[in-house]
Amino acid sequence: ASVVGIDFGNLSSKIGVARARGIDIIVNEVSNRATPSLISFGQKQRAIGESAKTLETSNFRNTIGSLKRLVGRQLSDPEISEIEKKFINATLLDVNGSVGVQVNFKGEQRQFSAVQLVAMYLGKLKDTAAKELKQNVSDVVISVPSWFTEVQRRAVLDSAAVAGLNPLRLINDTTAIALGYGITKSDLPEPENPRHVVFVDIGHSNYTVAVVAFSKGQLTVKSTASDRHFGGRDLDYALLTHFAEEFKGKYKIDVLSSPKAIFRLSTQCERLKKVLSANAESTITIESIMNDIDASSKLSRDAFEGLIAPLLERVAAPLREALSEAGLTPEQIDTVELVGGTTRVPAIKARIGAVFPGKPLMTTLNADEAVARGATFACAMLSPVFRVREFAFHDVTSYPIQLQWERAAEDSPDEDTQLVVFPRNNTLPSTKLLTFARSAPFEIEAQYANPSALPGKINPWIGKLSAKNVTSDADGNPSTIKVKTRLNSNGVLSFEAVYAVEELPIEEEPSMDIDAPAPAEGEAPLPKKKKAVKKDIQFVAGYTGLDTSILNSLREVEAEMFSADKLVMDTEERKNALEEYVYDMRSKLEDRYAAYAQPAEKQTLLAALQQAEDWLYSEEGEDALKSAYVERIEAVHKLGDPISNRYKEAEERPRASSQLRETI
Ligand code: ATP
Ligand code: MG
Repeated sequence: ASVVGIDFGNLSSKIGVARARGIDIIVNEVSNRATPSLISFGQKQRAIGESAKTLETSNFRNTIGSLKRLVGRQLSDPEISEIEKKFINATLLDVNGSVGVQVNFKGEQRQFSAVQLVAMYLGKLKDTAAKELKQNVSDVVISVPSWFTEVQRRAVLDSAAVAGLNPLRLINDTTAIALGYGITKSDLPEPENPRHVVFVDIGHSNYTVAVVAFSKGQLTVKSTASDRHFGGRDLDYALLTHFAEEFKGKYKIDVLSSPKAIFRLSTQCERLKKVLSANAESTITIESIMNDIDASSKLSRDAFEGLIAPLLERVAAPLREALSEAGLTPEQIDTVELVGGTTRVPAIKARIGAVFPGKPLMTTLNADEAVARGATFACAMLSPVFRVREFAFHDVTSYPIQLQWERAAEDSPDEDTQLVVFPRNNTLPSTKLLTFARSAPFEIEAQYANPSALPGKINPWIGKLSAKNVTSDADGNPSTIKVKTRLNSNGVLSFEAVYAVEELPIEEEPSMDIDAPAPAEGEAPLPKKKKAVKKDIQFVAGYTGLDTSILNSLREVEAEMFSADKLVMDTEERKNALEEYVYDMRSKLEDRYAAYAQPAEKQTLLAALQQAEDWLYSEEGEDALKSAYVERIEAVHKLGDPISNRYKEAEERPRASSQLRETI
């Protein structure tokens, strides 16, 4: 089995793998350690990751990013229809109740749900990891923001399943960072006096904070907080609107009216922003941005900070919230650790620092790779493949969860009909047992207790339990029913068991114990012994995830698209191989193979090579089946191999004899 951790980022994702000597962040097919979180639908195939990035400008209407922002969401949610839409050029639409995208793929209008999109992307990361590890990849830990709700978490789990992955768990971004921090520390204090660390992760789309207590061998997340709409893309957007406004006056062009121009300007804005993290001033230039106009401008860091002032005002809030939830003051914090690309912005750093006066902001973790490393550690701990140092980690839930039910008719009218079973910051995983008095089948619903705290208009509904064969007990009284519910380490709720508990009197043998003292006058006789008997109650439970049958059919659809893409790539590769052989053989025939080819042989081969070349550049050879390229490769090899073999033999002969000499 493989051990893989994925930092599923909004701009790019990073993949960690565990090896005997430790954890490595691996590179993709173009040797980058981060893979763009993008999919581009083309006329022949899907391009995912790096290849999608190169098509982003030319095929922008059929290219989709913001994958983690879409998954588990609905089109009608204003956070999707208003906020995410700003960052997406493809057409969003509703696909069976969740947001999806409409694209032109292989000449057809196609619709894909966000779960399918994330599955496509995870499938690509899976493939990248499999190539690196030279084995199939299945077990994986995937990071998600701590603010993800049940429906988002289940959607990511569904996506992983569609991609053929087996997610051992989801881990919150900040918890993964904390795990990577803690597991490598050998100087952690005793549990009575834990070290408190604040982890701050500001990436491309969101800003998350966790306050974590570390002691020997363990970490406990005390609290989390976030600003879901605060990241590098918001800084880029502030720059974009600034320059668009400036160019309106300066060049009389409306950049915001052209998706392509927006796209090109945004790219330059991001670059400028990064330069301003290290320099006081910089310039931008965009050749023929619109109407053949070359646009250019410059900006100072001070001016940039002015443009993003409203965002800077928001830096302190999540930090203060996390501290107060943890019941700690800034003075009680030992260290603040920064990760995520956007913590490199000096003004943001300064605002974070202002919340912790006198405390240095640390960057001892790799800002880009800390999440992936932590997720990989978590995977290694859950997998039998490697022995990992014992390190316990306790995460918490971000939103309170309540169960609710209808009052049983015979119950007292003041019976509660709801209960917050898992309050905010409840430890994960956690199991709770509830007791009900019921004589008939009943239902329980689970939902978030405080819908207004949820992202956007996310439906607070989590799940529903229907207990089936419930009856009165033998005496005609309501049965005592226990319901076991669990919030697992993915942060996902489930109903685990329902059973009736019946107290049956134990038939006692007549007592032979004559020494037993008789009950004293006025004292009650000893109660009759009873034993509790558990009887399982049938139940069905429904949640927000996809049904198994739908998952299976999506998995099939994805597997088909994956192999179709692979066939396109393999075909392309064979085509290149044929082309390469033609050129390579021609030049070698004039050079090192010259002495090994009969003139007639050479003529036949050259003719065959010419024929192959002509075919390659004909309409037919331009776009043929893989088998056609393979056939032609074999045909030219048949003529060329005798020559190249003669050359090889001649080359090896002197070497063989010199080896022989050495052994004598
Ligand atoms: P998220 O965590 O929101 O899902 P992500 O994990 O993909 O997103 P990161 O890789 O942490 O995001 O950070 C990417 C962001 O950081 C981009 O917006 C990028 O422009 C920004 N960034 C990277 N380097 C710098 C820098 N030197 N100065 C300013 N911003 C930077
Ligand atoms: Mg991130």
